[in-house]
Amino acid sequence: NQSLHALDPEVAAAVDAELHRQQTTLEMIASENFAPVAVMEAQGSVLTNKYAEGYPGRRYYGGCEHVDVVEQIAIDRIKELFGAEAANVQPHSGAQANAAAMFALLQPGDTILGLDLAHGGHLTHGMRINFSGKLYNVAAYHVDEKTNLVDMDEVERLAKEHRPKLIVAGWSAYPRQLDFAAFRRIADEVGAYLMVDMAHFAGLVAAGLHPSPVPYADVVTTTTHKTLGGPRGGVILSKAELAKKINSAVFPGQQGGPLEHVIAAKAVAFKVAASEEFKERQQRTLDGSKILAERLSQQDMADAGVAVLSGGTDVHLVLVDLRNSELDGKQAEDRLHEVGITVNRNAVPFDPRPPMVTSGLRIGTPALATRGFQAEDFREVADVIAEALKPDFDPAKAESLKARVTALAAKHPLYPEL
Ligand code: PLP
Repeated sequence: NQSLHALDPEVAAAVDAELHRQQTTLEMIASENFAPVAVMEAQGSVLTNKYAEGYPGRRYYGGCEHVDVVEQIAIDRIKELFGAEAANVQPHSGAQANAAAMFALLQPGDTILGLDLAHGGHLTHGMRINFSGKLYNVAAYHVDEKTNLVDMDEVERLAKEHRPKLIVAGWSAYPRQLDFAAFRRIADEVGAYLMVDMAHFAGLVAAGLHPSPVPYADVVTTTTHKTLGGPRGGVILSKAELAKKINSAVFPGQQGGPLEHVIAAKAVAFKVAASEEFKERQQRTLDGSKILAERLSQQDMADAGVAVLSGGTDVHLVLVDLRNSELDGKQAEDRLHEVGITVNRNAVPFDPRPPMVTSGLRIGTPALATRGFQAEDFREVADVIAEALKPDFDPAKAESLKARVTALAAKHPLYPEL
Protein backbone atom coordinates (compact mmCIF):
# COMPACT_ATOMS: atom_id res chain seq x y z
CA ASN A 1 0.00 0.00 0.00
CA GLN A 2 2.21 2.77 -1.31
CA SER A 3 1.41 6.46 -1.22
CA LEU A 4 0.17 8.14 -4.38
CA HIS A 5 3.55 9.77 -4.94
CA ALA A 6 5.36 6.43 -4.66
CA LEU A 7 2.88 4.37 -6.69
CA ASP A 8 1.98 6.81 -9.43
CA PRO A 9 4.27 9.84 -9.73
CA GLU A 10 2.62 10.91 -12.99
CA VAL A 11 -0.82 11.35 -11.46
CA ALA A 12 0.68 12.74 -8.25
CA ALA A 13 2.51 15.41 -10.21
CA ALA A 14 -0.68 16.54 -11.92
CA VAL A 15 -2.51 16.65 -8.57
CA ASP A 16 0.33 18.70 -7.07
CA ALA A 17 0.27 21.05 -10.03
CA GLU A 18 -3.49 21.53 -9.63
CA LEU A 19 -3.04 22.35 -5.93
CA HIS A 20 -0.43 24.92 -6.90
CA ARG A 21 -2.76 26.41 -9.52
CA GLN A 22 -5.58 26.71 -6.97
CA GLN A 23 -3.22 28.28 -4.43
CA THR A 24 -1.61 30.84 -6.72
CA THR A 25 -4.49 32.02 -8.92
CA LEU A 26 -7.89 33.52 -8.12
CA GLU A 27 -10.82 31.18 -8.72
CA MET A 28 -13.89 33.07 -9.87
CA ILE A 29 -15.85 30.37 -11.69
CA ALA A 30 -19.28 30.87 -10.16
CA SER A 31 -19.98 27.14 -9.80
CA GLU A 32 -16.74 26.36 -7.98
CA ASN A 33 -15.64 26.50 -4.36
CA PHE A 34 -12.96 25.10 -2.05
CA ALA A 35 -14.10 22.14 0.03
CA PRO A 36 -12.81 22.07 3.61
CA VAL A 37 -10.00 19.60 4.34
CA ALA A 38 -12.40 17.58 6.53
CA VAL A 39 -14.75 17.16 3.56
CA MET A 40 -11.89 15.92 1.39
CA GLU A 41 -10.75 13.61 4.17
CA ALA A 42 -14.21 12.01 4.35
CA GLN A 43 -14.29 11.69 0.59
CA GLY A 44 -10.86 10.07 0.56
CA SER A 45 -11.85 7.56 3.25
CA VAL A 46 -12.34 3.76 3.25
CA LEU A 47 -16.03 4.31 2.58
CA THR A 48 -15.00 4.31 -1.09
CA ASN A 49 -14.74 0.52 -0.80
CA LYS A 50 -18.31 -0.17 0.23
CA TYR A 51 -21.27 -1.33 -1.86
CA ALA A 52 -24.58 -0.22 -0.34
CA GLU A 53 -27.38 -0.45 -2.90
CA GLY A 54 -30.62 0.52 -1.22
CA TYR A 55 -31.22 2.92 1.64
CA PRO A 56 -30.23 3.01 5.34
CA GLY A 57 -31.76 -0.02 7.07
CA ARG A 58 -32.88 -1.51 3.71
CA ARG A 59 -29.74 -2.51 1.84
CA TYR A 60 -29.06 -5.22 -0.71
CA TYR A 61 -25.56 -5.84 0.70
CA GLY A 62 -24.21 -6.95 4.06
CA GLY A 63 -21.84 -4.92 6.21
CA CYS A 64 -23.68 -1.64 5.78
CA GLU A 65 -24.03 -0.82 9.50
CA HIS A 66 -21.52 2.03 9.40
CA VAL A 67 -22.40 3.55 6.03
CA ASP A 68 -26.04 3.45 7.21
CA VAL A 69 -25.04 5.75 10.07
CA VAL A 70 -23.25 8.12 7.69
CA GLU A 71 -26.06 8.27 5.14
CA GLN A 72 -28.71 8.82 7.82
CA ILE A 73 -26.65 11.69 9.29
CA ALA A 74 -26.44 13.29 5.84
CA ILE A 75 -30.20 12.92 5.31
CA ASP A 76 -31.09 14.30 8.74
CA ARG A 77 -28.70 17.24 8.43
CA ILE A 78 -29.89 18.42 5.04
CA LYS A 79 -33.55 18.08 5.99
CA GLU A 80 -32.86 20.24 9.02
CA LEU A 81 -30.74 22.73 7.05
CA PHE A 82 -33.48 23.45 4.51
CA GLY A 83 -36.60 22.50 6.48
CA ALA A 84 -37.38 19.77 3.95
CA GLU A 85 -39.75 16.87 4.57
CA ALA A 86 -37.64 14.30 2.72
CA ALA A 87 -34.13 14.07 1.26
CA ASN A 88 -32.23 11.72 -1.03
CA VAL A 89 -28.47 12.27 -0.77
CA GLN A 90 -27.42 9.61 -3.29
CA PRO A 91 -27.38 11.42 -6.67
CA HIS A 92 -23.83 11.37 -7.98
CA SER A 93 -24.19 14.87 -9.43
CA GLY A 94 -26.60 17.71 -10.04
CA ALA A 95 -27.42 16.40 -13.50
CA GLN A 96 -28.26 12.99 -12.05
CA ALA A 97 -30.41 14.55 -9.33
CA ASN A 98 -32.41 16.30 -12.05
CA ALA A 99 -32.63 13.15 -14.17
CA ALA A 100 -33.93 11.14 -11.20
CA ALA A 101 -36.40 13.83 -10.12
CA MET A 102 -37.84 13.98 -13.65
CA PHE A 103 -37.85 10.18 -13.87
CA ALA A 104 -39.93 10.13 -10.68
CA LEU A 105 -42.48 12.71 -11.80
CA LEU A 106 -42.77 12.24 -15.57
CA GLN A 107 -43.27 9.72 -18.35
CA PRO A 108 -41.27 9.99 -21.57
CA GLY A 109 -43.11 12.36 -23.90
CA ASP A 110 -44.54 14.50 -21.09
CA THR A 111 -44.03 18.24 -21.41
CA ILE A 112 -41.63 20.27 -19.25
CA LEU A 113 -41.25 24.04 -19.13
CA GLY A 114 -37.80 25.36 -18.20
CA LEU A 115 -35.55 28.38 -18.66
CA ASP A 116 -33.84 28.40 -22.06
CA LEU A 117 -30.16 27.40 -21.88
CA ALA A 118 -29.19 30.51 -23.84
CA HIS A 119 -30.95 32.65 -21.22
CA GLY A 120 -29.30 31.07 -18.18
CA GLY A 121 -30.96 27.67 -17.82
CA HIS A 122 -29.07 24.39 -17.34
CA LEU A 123 -28.58 21.60 -19.87
CA THR A 124 -30.86 19.36 -17.81
CA HIS A 125 -33.74 21.84 -18.02
CA GLY A 126 -34.60 20.77 -21.57
CA MET A 127 -31.61 21.29 -23.84
CA ARG A 128 -32.12 19.56 -27.19
CA ILE A 129 -29.39 16.91 -26.99
CA ASN A 130 -29.52 16.43 -23.20
CA PHE A 131 -31.61 13.53 -21.79
CA SER A 132 -34.18 16.15 -20.76
CA GLY A 133 -34.63 17.36 -24.34
CA LYS A 134 -34.64 13.85 -25.78
CA LEU A 135 -37.01 12.17 -23.31
CA TYR A 136 -39.44 15.01 -22.77
CA ASN A 137 -41.33 17.50 -24.86
CA VAL A 138 -39.76 20.87 -24.05
CA ALA A 139 -41.15 24.37 -23.91
CA ALA A 140 -38.72 27.10 -22.85
CA TYR A 141 -39.26 30.45 -21.17
CA HIS A 142 -36.91 33.40 -21.44
CA VAL A 143 -35.77 36.63 -19.89
CA ASP A 144 -37.22 39.93 -21.01
CA GLU A 145 -35.02 41.67 -23.59
CA LYS A 146 -35.10 45.02 -21.78
CA THR A 147 -34.84 44.03 -18.11
CA ASN A 148 -32.97 40.71 -18.51
CA LEU A 149 -35.28 39.35 -15.80
CA VAL A 150 -37.30 36.14 -16.19
CA ASP A 151 -40.52 37.14 -17.89
CA MET A 152 -43.22 35.70 -15.60
CA ASP A 153 -45.96 36.78 -18.03
CA GLU A 154 -44.34 34.57 -20.64
CA VAL A 155 -44.00 31.71 -18.12
CA GLU A 156 -47.74 31.95 -17.45
CA ARG A 157 -48.64 32.22 -21.14
CA LEU A 158 -46.47 29.23 -22.10
CA ALA A 159 -47.78 27.19 -19.16
CA LYS A 160 -51.37 27.76 -20.29
CA GLU A 161 -50.49 27.02 -23.90
CA HIS A 162 -48.39 23.87 -23.37
CA ARG A 163 -49.93 22.49 -20.12
CA PRO A 164 -46.56 21.11 -18.88
CA LYS A 165 -46.53 18.31 -16.33
CA LEU A 166 -43.44 19.92 -14.74
CA ILE A 167 -42.21 23.50 -14.49
CA VAL A 168 -38.51 23.91 -13.71
CA ALA A 169 -37.35 27.06 -11.96
CA GLY A 170 -33.62 27.48 -11.50
CA TRP A 171 -30.58 28.60 -13.39
CA SER A 172 -26.86 28.32 -14.07
CA ALA A 173 -26.31 31.90 -15.13
CA TYR A 174 -28.76 34.47 -13.79
CA PRO A 175 -27.84 37.29 -11.42
CA ARG A 176 -31.19 37.77 -9.67
CA GLN A 177 -33.68 35.92 -7.46
CA LEU A 178 -36.68 34.04 -8.86
CA ASP A 179 -40.23 34.56 -7.63
CA PHE A 180 -41.00 31.08 -6.28
CA ALA A 181 -44.51 32.05 -5.14
CA ALA A 182 -45.36 33.15 -8.69
CA PHE A 183 -44.00 29.90 -10.12
CA ARG A 184 -46.12 27.96 -7.61
CA ARG A 185 -49.25 29.89 -8.55
CA ILE A 186 -48.68 29.23 -12.27
CA ALA A 187 -47.92 25.53 -11.65
CA ASP A 188 -51.16 25.22 -9.67
CA GLU A 189 -53.13 26.98 -12.41
CA VAL A 190 -52.14 24.32 -14.95
CA GLY A 191 -51.81 21.33 -12.61
CA ALA A 192 -48.02 21.02 -13.01
CA TYR A 193 -45.39 19.91 -10.55
CA LEU A 194 -42.90 22.63 -9.59
CA MET A 195 -39.25 21.64 -9.39
CA VAL A 196 -36.69 24.22 -8.27
CA ASP A 197 -33.05 23.53 -9.14
CA MET A 198 -31.19 25.59 -6.54
CA ALA A 199 -27.76 24.15 -7.45
CA HIS A 200 -26.20 27.58 -7.69
CA PHE A 201 -27.76 29.41 -4.77
CA ALA A 202 -28.27 26.61 -2.20
CA GLY A 203 -25.53 28.00 0.05
CA LEU A 204 -27.21 31.39 0.13
CA VAL A 205 -30.52 29.71 1.02
CA ALA A 206 -28.86 27.67 3.78
CA ALA A 207 -27.47 30.89 5.23
CA GLY A 208 -30.88 32.61 5.13
CA LEU A 209 -29.60 35.16 2.60
CA HIS A 210 -31.84 34.09 -0.30
CA PRO A 211 -35.54 33.11 -0.29
CA SER A 212 -36.01 29.36 0.14
CA PRO A 213 -37.82 27.45 -2.61
CA VAL A 214 -38.57 24.56 -0.24
CA PRO A 215 -42.00 25.78 0.95
CA TYR A 216 -43.16 26.31 -2.66
CA ALA A 217 -41.71 23.45 -4.70
CA ASP A 218 -42.79 19.81 -4.88
CA VAL A 219 -39.16 18.92 -5.48
CA VAL A 220 -35.94 20.88 -4.93
CA THR A 221 -32.69 19.64 -6.44
CA THR A 222 -29.21 20.92 -5.76
CA THR A 223 -25.55 20.25 -6.22
CA THR A 224 -23.43 20.13 -3.10
CA HIS A 225 -20.24 21.68 -4.48
CA LYS A 226 -21.17 25.21 -5.56
CA THR A 227 -22.15 27.84 -2.97
CA LEU A 228 -22.83 24.94 -0.60
CA GLY A 229 -19.08 24.29 -0.57
CA GLY A 230 -19.06 20.49 -0.23
CA PRO A 231 -17.94 17.54 -2.37
CA ARG A 232 -19.08 17.24 -5.98
CA GLY A 233 -22.53 15.66 -5.85
CA GLY A 234 -26.30 16.09 -5.91
CA VAL A 235 -29.28 15.96 -3.55
CA ILE A 236 -33.05 15.82 -4.01
CA LEU A 237 -35.38 17.35 -1.42
CA SER A 238 -39.10 16.72 -1.65
CA LYS A 239 -42.46 16.69 0.04
CA ALA A 240 -42.94 13.55 2.14
CA GLU A 241 -45.56 12.10 -0.21
CA LEU A 242 -43.07 12.07 -3.10
CA ALA A 243 -40.19 10.53 -1.12
CA LYS A 244 -40.88 6.93 -2.14
CA LYS A 245 -41.12 7.79 -5.83
CA ILE A 246 -37.93 9.85 -5.67
CA ASN A 247 -36.00 7.14 -3.83
CA SER A 248 -36.98 4.50 -6.31
CA ALA A 249 -36.17 6.82 -9.23
CA VAL A 250 -32.61 7.33 -7.89
CA PHE A 251 -32.11 3.65 -7.06
CA PRO A 252 -32.82 1.43 -8.93
CA GLY A 253 -34.21 3.89 -11.50
CA GLN A 254 -31.06 5.80 -12.39
CA GLN A 255 -28.12 4.64 -10.29
CA GLY A 256 -26.52 1.54 -8.81
CA GLY A 257 -24.39 1.67 -5.67
CA PRO A 258 -24.28 5.02 -3.87
CA LEU A 259 -20.92 6.75 -3.33
CA GLU A 260 -20.89 6.47 0.47
CA HIS A 261 -17.53 8.25 0.72
CA VAL A 262 -19.05 11.22 -1.08
CA ILE A 263 -22.18 10.98 1.07
CA ALA A 264 -19.93 11.14 4.16
CA ALA A 265 -18.32 14.26 2.70
CA LYS A 266 -21.78 15.72 2.02
CA ALA A 267 -22.72 15.11 5.68
CA VAL A 268 -19.64 17.04 6.82
CA ALA A 269 -20.42 19.88 4.42
CA PHE A 270 -24.02 20.09 5.73
CA LYS A 271 -22.65 20.42 9.28
CA VAL A 272 -20.44 23.27 8.14
CA ALA A 273 -23.36 24.88 6.28
CA ALA A 274 -25.36 25.10 9.51
CA SER A 275 -22.63 27.13 11.24
CA GLU A 276 -22.35 30.85 11.92
CA GLU A 277 -19.01 30.92 10.12
CA PHE A 278 -20.73 29.63 6.97
CA LYS A 279 -23.38 32.35 7.20
CA GLU A 280 -20.72 35.00 7.52
CA ARG A 281 -18.90 33.57 4.50
CA GLN A 282 -22.08 33.62 2.38
CA GLN A 283 -22.58 37.26 3.37
CA ARG A 284 -19.05 38.07 2.17
CA THR A 285 -19.83 36.15 -1.04
CA LEU A 286 -22.82 38.44 -1.67
CA ASP A 287 -20.94 41.58 -0.65
CA GLY A 288 -18.14 40.62 -3.03
CA SER A 289 -20.42 40.16 -6.03
CA LYS A 290 -22.11 43.51 -5.32
CA ILE A 291 -18.69 45.21 -5.16
CA LEU A 292 -17.77 43.58 -8.48
CA ALA A 293 -21.04 44.62 -10.14
CA GLU A 294 -20.60 48.20 -8.96
CA ARG A 295 -17.02 48.44 -10.22
CA LEU A 296 -17.95 47.00 -13.62
CA SER A 297 -20.86 49.46 -13.91
CA GLN A 298 -18.67 52.57 -13.67
CA GLN A 299 -18.24 55.03 -16.50
CA ASP A 300 -14.77 53.83 -17.53
CA MET A 301 -16.28 50.39 -18.19
CA ALA A 302 -19.21 51.80 -20.16
CA ASP A 303 -16.59 53.63 -22.23
CA ALA A 304 -14.95 50.25 -22.89
CA GLY A 305 -18.30 48.74 -23.98
CA VAL A 306 -18.54 46.61 -20.82
CA ALA A 307 -21.84 46.39 -18.93
CA VAL A 308 -23.36 44.36 -16.10
CA LEU A 309 -26.38 42.30 -17.11
CA SER A 310 -29.56 43.40 -15.29
CA GLY A 311 -27.57 46.28 -13.80
CA GLY A 312 -26.33 44.39 -10.76
CA THR A 313 -26.69 41.20 -8.74
CA ASP A 314 -28.61 39.68 -5.82
CA VAL A 315 -26.56 36.50 -5.76
CA HIS A 316 -22.99 35.16 -5.86
CA LEU A 317 -22.27 36.00 -9.47
CA VAL A 318 -22.13 38.82 -11.96
CA LEU A 319 -22.87 38.43 -15.67
CA VAL A 320 -20.68 40.73 -17.72
CA ASP A 321 -22.23 41.87 -20.98
CA LEU A 322 -19.63 42.32 -23.74
CA ARG A 323 -22.04 42.83 -26.64
CA ASN A 324 -20.78 46.40 -27.08
CA SER A 325 -17.16 45.54 -26.41
CA GLU A 326 -14.49 44.73 -28.98
CA LEU A 327 -13.55 41.83 -26.72
CA ASP A 328 -15.65 38.73 -27.06
CA GLY A 329 -16.25 36.27 -24.22
CA LYS A 330 -13.40 34.00 -25.26
CA GLN A 331 -10.88 36.83 -25.48
CA ALA A 332 -12.03 38.25 -22.14
CA GLU A 333 -11.74 34.84 -20.46
CA ASP A 334 -8.23 34.43 -21.91
CA ARG A 335 -7.20 37.88 -20.75
CA LEU A 336 -8.27 37.22 -17.18
CA HIS A 337 -6.52 33.86 -17.33
CA GLU A 338 -3.36 35.67 -18.37
CA VAL A 339 -3.44 37.79 -15.20
CA GLY A 340 -4.25 34.79 -12.97
CA ILE A 341 -8.04 35.03 -12.62
CA THR A 342 -10.13 32.04 -13.68
CA VAL A 343 -13.65 32.68 -14.99
CA ASN A 344 -15.79 31.23 -17.73
CA ARG A 345 -17.18 32.87 -20.82
CA ASN A 346 -20.93 32.63 -20.96
CA ALA A 347 -23.56 33.49 -23.53
CA VAL A 348 -25.71 36.46 -22.61
CA PRO A 349 -29.40 36.41 -23.59
CA PHE A 350 -29.88 37.39 -27.25
CA ASP A 351 -26.16 36.86 -27.81
CA PRO A 352 -25.10 37.72 -31.36
CA ARG A 353 -21.85 35.70 -31.06
CA PRO A 354 -21.69 31.87 -31.36
CA PRO A 355 -21.78 29.67 -28.21
CA MET A 356 -18.06 28.78 -28.36
CA VAL A 357 -17.18 32.50 -28.37
CA THR A 358 -20.07 34.31 -26.63
CA SER A 359 -20.45 37.93 -25.54
CA GLY A 360 -20.33 37.43 -21.82
CA LEU A 361 -18.44 36.39 -18.73
CA ARG A 362 -19.86 34.72 -15.63
CA ILE A 363 -17.85 35.79 -12.60
CA GLY A 364 -18.54 34.38 -9.15
CA THR A 365 -17.31 35.12 -5.64
CA PRO A 366 -17.92 31.92 -3.57
CA ALA A 367 -14.41 30.48 -3.82
CA LEU A 368 -12.71 33.76 -2.92
CA ALA A 369 -15.07 34.25 0.02
CA THR A 370 -14.14 30.77 1.23
CA ARG A 371 -10.53 31.81 0.90
CA GLY A 372 -11.23 34.64 3.33
CA PHE A 373 -11.63 37.62 1.01
CA GLN A 374 -13.00 40.75 2.69
CA ALA A 375 -14.62 43.77 1.05
CA GLU A 376 -11.26 45.50 0.48
CA ASP A 377 -9.91 42.39 -1.29
CA PHE A 378 -12.99 42.18 -3.49
CA ARG A 379 -12.54 45.88 -4.36
CA GLU A 380 -8.97 45.14 -5.41
CA VAL A 381 -9.85 42.10 -7.54
CA ALA A 382 -12.79 43.97 -9.09
CA ASP A 383 -10.43 46.73 -10.12
CA VAL A 384 -7.96 44.25 -11.61
CA ILE A 385 -10.79 42.71 -13.67
CA ALA A 386 -11.99 46.14 -14.78
CA GLU A 387 -8.49 47.16 -15.87
CA ALA A 388 -7.95 43.87 -17.72
CA LEU A 389 -11.11 44.35 -19.79
CA LYS A 390 -10.14 47.82 -21.07
CA PRO A 391 -8.73 48.40 -24.57
CA ASP A 392 -5.31 49.61 -23.32
CA PHE A 393 -4.29 46.09 -22.25
CA ASP A 394 -0.64 45.40 -23.14
CA PRO A 395 2.14 43.12 -21.78
CA ALA A 396 3.32 45.69 -19.23
CA LYS A 397 -0.20 46.17 -17.89
CA ALA A 398 -0.69 42.38 -17.81
CA GLU A 399 2.45 42.05 -15.66
CA SER A 400 1.32 44.63 -13.14
CA LEU A 401 -2.19 43.18 -12.90
CA LYS A 402 -0.74 39.73 -12.42
CA ALA A 403 1.41 41.02 -9.57
CA ARG A 404 -1.72 42.40 -7.87
CA VAL A 405 -3.42 38.99 -8.27
CA THR A 406 -0.40 37.19 -6.83
CA ALA A 407 -0.39 39.52 -3.84
CA LEU A 408 -4.08 38.81 -3.14
CA ALA A 409 -3.48 35.06 -3.38
CA ALA A 410 -0.54 35.32 -0.99
CA LYS A 411 -2.60 37.40 1.46
CA HIS A 412 -5.19 34.59 1.73
CA PRO A 413 -3.30 31.27 1.69
CA LEU A 414 -5.33 28.28 0.51
CA TYR A 415 -4.88 24.84 2.07
CA PRO A 416 -1.65 25.77 3.88
CA GLU A 417 -1.89 22.38 5.67
CA LEU A 418 -1.50 20.56 2.36
N1 PLP B 1 -28.24 22.35 -12.17
C1 PLP B 1 -27.71 23.57 -12.31
C2 PLP B 1 -28.57 24.76 -12.15
C3 PLP B 1 -26.35 23.71 -12.58
O1 PLP B 1 -25.81 24.92 -12.75
C4 PLP B 1 -25.56 22.54 -12.69
C5 PLP B 1 -24.09 22.59 -12.93
O2 PLP B 1 -23.55 23.40 -13.54
C6 PLP B 1 -26.16 21.30 -12.58
C7 PLP B 1 -27.50 21.24 -12.30
C8 PLP B 1 -25.41 20.02 -12.81
O3 PLP B 1 -24.55 19.68 -11.83
P1 PLP B 1 -23.38 18.59 -12.10
O4 PLP B 1 -22.35 19.30 -12.89
O5 PLP B 1 -22.99 18.18 -10.72
O6 PLP B 1 -24.01 17.47 -12.86
